Amino acid sequence: MATQKDSLVAYRKRRHFKRTPEPRGTKQASASQSLFVIQKHDASHLHYDVRIEINGVLKSWAVPKGISTKPAEKHLAIPTEDHPLSYAHFEGLIPAGEYGGGTVMVWDIGTYRNIKKVDNKLLSMDRCLKRGRIEVWLDGKKLKGGYALIKTAGMKASTKTPDRRARRVSSDKKTYWLLLKMKDAHAAKPIRNATKSALTGRTMKQIAQESSE
Ligand code: MN
Repeated sequence: MATQKDSLVAYRKRRHFKRTPEPRGTKQASASQSLFVIQKHDASHLHYDVRIEINGVLKSWAVPKGISTKPAEKHLAIPTEDHPLSYAHFEGLIPAGEYGGGTVMVWDIGTYRNIKKVDNKLLSMDRCLKRGRIEVWLDGKKLKGGYALIKTAGMKASTKTPDRRARRVSSDKKTYWLLLKMKDAHAAKPIRNATKSALTGRTMKQIAQESSE
């Protein structure tokens, strides 16, 4: 593959690595299995960060309402800066005053496979990203089955987005993404251990307490 420009520039610019425990990270060659992680992040507004490994980095979306297993529930997903692969195992406390200050939990982690086909052929994840339609089969500790991320372009965010916060965050771009569960045998199943870390079994409170000791 041709050398691509380092897409982690924005990630690094926003952080002081002497003051935050988050990894600096580097762009890495992809392993045979692709990684996904969903981090629960109690920053100024509680949200979930959905991150999918594409081209050696974690492509990222902030999802204020979190993940639903019900196909009818489409949740707003706002693209954020690429994160390094090593971020997938980051759980802890970003100090107050730093970028994204607050508790981070690895809410779910696992591998995914691309299931997006066009004319019966798999479309590369890179193409899916550019076209704005990602379909992946998740094999996480909590989430299983098909999930889609769909770029919704050209809508007037002020009238179509479901809540005030969503309108505010997406109003500058007028495009946003939606995250939804696809219809399969895993749809509408309750999520087990929804309040606990998929990595350490800890609650948000425990992570915050143990990180500040
Ligand atoms: Mn976040």
